[in-house]
Amino acid sequence: MSNTLSLNIVTPNGSVYDRDDVTLAVLQTTAGDIGVMYGHIPTVAALEIGYAKINFDGGSEYIAVSEGFVEVRQDKLSIIVQTAEPANDIDVSRAEQAKSKAESHLNDSNGNSDINRAKRALERANNRIRVANLQ
Ligand code: ATP
Repeated sequence: MSNTLSLNIVTPNGSVYDRDDVTLAVLQTTAGDIGVMYGHIPTVAALEIGYAKINFDGGSEYIAVSEGFVEVRQDKLSIIVQTAEPANDIDVSRAEQAKSKAESHLNDSNGNSDINRAKRALERANNRIRVANLQ
């Protein structure tokens, strides 16, 4: 068997994803996409709202992530993000509702909405909808 990576995804809610058979992880960093396999040079990178594609022996899965960091070591990948949901766990109707709510804040002409907050909420919602469809 080839060498594999262990992967742990941590959020403020604690560890939400853990496996030790990762053959390739594709991550969306602020500097572009990176592919990480066993033996990658150690690095730290900032992650954008996007997906992590995890390939393992016998399959692969997409995980929606919001902002955070990844730490890469030779045999270990640690992803520290605000939120992370495997595609299968995404509640699409909840994301659609969050999207509508964010859009109504963005269209609020009274100036009572925090526009940057609404933009980020919209990005998270669109990302969840996208990733749910990638599975
Ligand atoms: P909402 O308004 O629906 O809470 P949000 O973007 O404000 O959306 P977050 O603050 O990003 O939500 O996440 C709060 C928690 O809810 C996190 O644990 C996140 O993983 C989970 N979560 C948010 N939206 C979804 C979803 N559509 N499906 C599954 N889990 C979700």
